[in-house]
Amino acid sequence: KYQKTALTAAESAKSKTGRVILITGTGGFVGFHCALALKKRGDGVLGMDNFNSYYPVGIKYDRVETLERAGVYTFKADLNDRSFMDHILKEYGVTHVLALAAQAGVRYATKDPASYVSSNISGFVNLLEACRFCDPMPRIVYASSSSVYGLNTVSPFSEEHQVDRPASLYAATKKANEMIAHTYNHIYGLSLTGLRFFTVYGPWGRPDMFAFSATIKIHKGEALKIFQGPGGSELERDFTFIDDIVAGCVASVDKIPASTKETAHCKVYNLGNKDPVTVTYMIECLERAIGKKAIKNYVPMPPTGDVLKTSADVSLAEKELGYKPTTSLQDGINKFIEWYDEYYKEGLTKEMASYVPY
Ligand code: NAD
Repeated sequence: KYQKTALTAAESAKSKTGRVILITGTGGFVGFHCALALKKRGDGVLGMDNFNSYYPVGIKYDRVETLERAGVYTFKADLNDRSFMDHILKEYGVTHVLALAAQAGVRYATKDPASYVSSNISGFVNLLEACRFCDPMPRIVYASSSSVYGLNTVSPFSEEHQVDRPASLYAATKKANEMIAHTYNHIYGLSLTGLRFFTVYGPWGRPDMFAFSATIKIHKGEALKIFQGPGGSELERDFTFIDDIVAGCVASVDKIPASTKETAHCKVYNLGNKDPVTVTYMIECLERAIGKKAIKNYVPMPPTGDVLKTSADVSLAEKELGYKPTTSLQDGINKFIEWYDEYYKEGLTKEMASYVPY
């Protein structure tokens, strides 16, 4: 499905730093960017992805082809394939896992709940099982989500807040990851850092997410469906630029202690922009970058798992990871639109032109 180079997995795993990092989900948005960043600084990097068709796969193959040219090899494999996971961890001496593969998307969980259980719970446990039988055991940084804050109304969200009222099955699986991480740390001494990402956007982004799908609609002159809360209140999101998220992931890889009974930790951090804005403001940023007005259609929010507001308190990540989000929404959107114009300079692919996000 994509142009393979002569790159081998062994070359891709060669490290100048002593770190060999398996990134799950390199066909995906965040995994792609993290793989580029870690490879660039000299880490050995291996990727894997099952290329699921939740959104058009063409962009996943393009990401992976770009990674190949940068020296990162991606295996086509599923997290649930235990013999593959055992093999890749041991054969290449993986020291760290950046676990980003998951069935993403809040609303789609109402359509296909089993895919969330399979990738995000069974797949995650399978990965941890494979890790615990390695000697030494790798350190694991994994993606959680701001969605774990669910119906929490205290704002901004801090890691100290209770998170036991998920609004979607997706959120429930992410919370389950954090609890599963806790047990693997407690029983086996695996070291695990969970990162609660807040609505990530940027170049090579996800077509199912608002910035991307709204851009397609603005270009086509189609109306944007904008959800409203009770009393016509506006939805707010702490949109976070991909480069800031990558910086947080890289810092987490660097700071996570070894997976031994004596040193291992189990922690979670918010990675957000600490600047929530309304969806209408996001549209204004898109309009300025694209140079065209959007048609807006405000509709009541359906009960499909969205929450009214997300807002990150990132003081813990600032203190312990040195995390510092630096990209304003307008600057980040300008970079996204620059990429989008170049990537689709010959028009949308057929697959993308007919895609309707769930
Ligand atoms: P993405 O969908 O672009 O990437 C995930 C990748 O994982 C996909 O390419 C998919 O094919 C792959 N995958 C899914 N199930 C798999 C399996 N069983 N085996 C192997 N590969 C599998 O999503 P993303 O935006 O890059 O998200 C990365 C991680 O961050 C996910 O865990 C997601 O839940 C989390 N997250 C993302 C955001 C965001 O705004 N992008 C916000 C919060 C949390």
